[in-house]
Amino acid sequence: MNMSSTQKPQNASVDTHSVMFITQRPELIMTEGEGSWLKDGNGKRYLDFLQGWAVNCLGHGNPGMIAALNLQAKKLINPSPAFYNEPMIRLSNLLTTNSCFQKVFFANSGAEANEGAIKLARKWGQLNRSGAFEIITFDHSFHGRTLATMSASGKPGWDTMFAPQVPGFPKADINDLESVKKLITDKTVAIMIEPIQGEGGVIPATVEFMQDLRKLTLDNRLLLIVDEVQSGCGRTGKLFAYQHCDIEPDIMTLGKGIGGGVPLAALMATDAVACFVPGDQGGTYNGNPLMTAVGISVVEQLLAPGFLESVQAKGELLRSELLALVNEFHLEGERGNGLLRALMLGRDIGPKLVDLAREQGPEGLLINAPRPNLLRFMPALNVSEEEIRLMTEMLRKLLRQEI
Ligand SMILES: *Cc1c(COP(=O)(O)O)cnc(C)c1O
Repeated sequence: MNMSSTQKPQNASVDTHSVMFITQRPELIMTEGEGSWLKDGNGKRYLDFLQGWAVNCLGHGNPGMIAALNLQAKKLINPSPAFYNEPMIRLSNLLTTNSCFQKVFFANSGAEANEGAIKLARKWGQLNRSGAFEIITFDHSFHGRTLATMSASGKPGWDTMFAPQVPGFPKADINDLESVKKLITDKTVAIMIEPIQGEGGVIPATVEFMQDLRKLTLDNRLLLIVDEVQSGCGRTGKLFAYQHCDIEPDIMTLGKGIGGGVPLAALMATDAVACFVPGDQGGTYNGNPLMTAVGISVVEQLLAPGFLESVQAKGELLRSELLALVNEFHLEGERGNGLLRALMLGRDIGPKLVDLAREQGPEGLLINAPRPNLLRFMPALNVSEEEIRLMTEMLRKLLRQEI
């Protein structure tokens, strides 16, 4: 590939050809981070409202996480998954004490946790529902990029991308109970839902819909699986989004925020549903103490007195700032919960705004557009009020230019 002189990378000495091409990346190399700020190799600073796709829930360079990582690295990195280790046990206890689940399996990514949830539901179906295996999922949902989780996802085009799909994932419409009921057969074993569809464009399931799904699954002896990879770990101002709904699901998956930036995910289940026997589930890095030690630091910080309340307050501030932009520029609206929000633009200028926001100087802004007609905001949960106002100001300048 020839790089024309106008496209010269800023870090011209760095040759990126050996990095497999999977997505268009700007010619930037990120080198440092602190709190809500990222810095590139040229020293330019970016206000980071992406935070690794809702991953860095405590921002960049969190001292507690760094201390936990250092301490554990010196003590023990990997005893092998054949043995218990201290951080694995402590984090399991923390998560079960603060949720409706009694069992935890740690994995490395959200997709892997969801694979585990799918396997667990199918196993439960074999034992309890004469081999029922179908899991009803939703249009525009996102559950990961393995074959089974791509098949479970309702992303347009994904049904044929790596055909044939893994069978057994009929799709219903979010917030439409009839569309779910219509799909239930004697083959159905579970319903799997993101309490807020993140990649789909920040589309919240209503409290009523979540409650209806819980009732429907109980009435039909089906499992309710919540994929809280994006909505969990404090993102909505509760530790888990299902806790807004006064329901208790059977299975939950966590990823992203649980590790605050390190690869950690979790599959959680109630005692009644946790039916794996030796040989069913595993993974070389499951429960790895280096990662679970970081997870403990993250969850303890989320549970510190007043922290989740502060997320709710900042979510409200972000909401009112976005609503001010909606009024000022006659945009379509805003939606979301806590610090997972979207600004609906009413026109397909999302990708352009994302580029302009990043490229503006002297400081850039990092946001994303999961759909061309909206922008998504998922800042660190400890973002400051000033940073939220600064983000809005930067965006206001761009909107003035573009609208
Ligand atoms: C990001 C995401 C996943 C996939 O997580 P990975 O760690 O990328 O595998 C699954 N479900 C939801 C809701 C997500 O947002």
